[in-house]
Amino acid sequence: MPDNKECPHCGTSLQGPEIPLRNSMTLKPVLYVGAAHFKRELGIEDPEVCDGILFWKCPDCKGNWHRWDKGTWQRDAANRRYGVEK
Ligand SMILES: [Zn+2]
Repeated sequence: MPDNKECPHCGTSLQGPEIPLRNSMTLKPVLYVGAAHFKRELGIEDPEVCDGILFWKCPDCKGNWHRWDKGTWQRDAANRRYGVEK
């Protein structure tokens, strides 16, 4: 799944603030997960459908878009239950 840098609905930037290398309070190194920036999009989960994130939601316009590739049952479920189209 491509990493969206912008919302496919309203075009707002989904790149959050830079992840600090050290926690400013404790000065301990921050757990680094391979990304330089936080993400702004919201991961929507539905435990009745699958473990983990089912689709993404824009924090600004509340538009939804798919996390899963075409042809997957997770994508079909997101479409059926929540009307996710993009
Ligand atoms: Zn948006």
